[in-house]
Amino acid sequence: MPKGLSFSEMPFESVRHWLLERDPGRLEALFAAADVCRRNNVGEAVHLRGLVEISSHCRRMCLYCGLRSGNRHASRYRLSADEALDCAKRIEAAGVGTAVLQAGEDGGLTRGFISDMVRSIKQHTRCAVTLSLGERDDGDYLAWKQAGADRYLLRFETSDRALYDRLHPPRGERYDRVAALQRLRAMGYEIGSGVMFGLPGQTVETLAADLMLIAKLDLDMIGCGPFIPHPNTPLGQHEGGTLDLAYIVIALCRLLAPRAHIPATTAIATLGGESARAKALSCGANVIMPNFTPAMYREQYEIYPDKACPEEGAERFCEGLHKRLAQLGRTVGVGPGKTNTAV
Ligand code: SAH
Repeated sequence: MPKGLSFSEMPFESVRHWLLERDPGRLEALFAAADVCRRNNVGEAVHLRGLVEISSHCRRMCLYCGLRSGNRHASRYRLSADEALDCAKRIEAAGVGTAVLQAGEDGGLTRGFISDMVRSIKQHTRCAVTLSLGERDDGDYLAWKQAGADRYLLRFETSDRALYDRLHPPRGERYDRVAALQRLRAMGYEIGSGVMFGLPGQTVETLAADLMLIAKLDLDMIGCGPFIPHPNTPLGQHEGGTLDLAYIVIALCRLLAPRAHIPATTAIATLGGESARAKALSCGANVIMPNFTPAMYREQYEIYPDKACPEEGAERFCEGLHKRLAQLGRTVGVGPGKTNTAV
């Protein structure tokens, strides 16, 4: 165990220090500590979450995202309720216990439309349903909970308020994502959040503060990924986040939040392929999110370019995972993979 590492009580200064660490030996020790922490707290199972990108319409202007409304090159689609249900059935048939419905902030996804979609998925499959639809009214969140939704993902992206405001040109009143996460939890949702790293203007201090906030929020799920520049956005010419930093961030997330579900994110697989995903699983991560969006739409959901999507299709990818995970000494999780029931 690296000297001076006191797990969930790690102070800001040590987190900041680890984010700057480049010594291979010390990093190996950090990753090994995170791996042990993962095994002791959430076990060997890797939980799968089937991702369905239900709409690429977005009214927001986030400076980093290819779906931003100002991107005229983006093509836009919205799944019908039947198409979404078909995806959920495919997810269940592939042995995956959770469907994650993700989208841009699309006003066309009305309260009633999503309520019906969630209800029909819950009626026709045994999948847990996670929503990742951005900032909505509490009335929407409540209606979707009543319709059967289990979890909500809403990354706070960065805890640096000035940076947040620069990256997210406001639409009227400023929405507080951290406060929203707390209300979502009070409504009965399991909650997930996280950040991007490698954003222009982000410093090691702001990223350390992000991780301290992640620890404080006591999240059920923590999704963190490298920023990947999209050429048709204002940040298209900037550098993105690196894999080296990705592994450190994942390891720190695990040590700060031992029982959370932490994905080896698609952005990591986009930068480094399956070997990067495997490495993330060996330094704290315990979730993979295979993409079940119908092939004809998948390329249109371009938050960043060349998003990793298994060529062979999600079903074949899941089949292959059993073998690949066994080589890492891991198993595929069964059922919905709720927080605190993984061990
Ligand atoms: N509209 C929803 C879902 C957004 S997409 C919402 O606002 O919550 C899910 C995540 O993708 C975002 O939270 C963001 O962290 C990430 N993302 C967006 N653009 C990205 C980029 N260019 N590089 C890496 N991650 C990106």
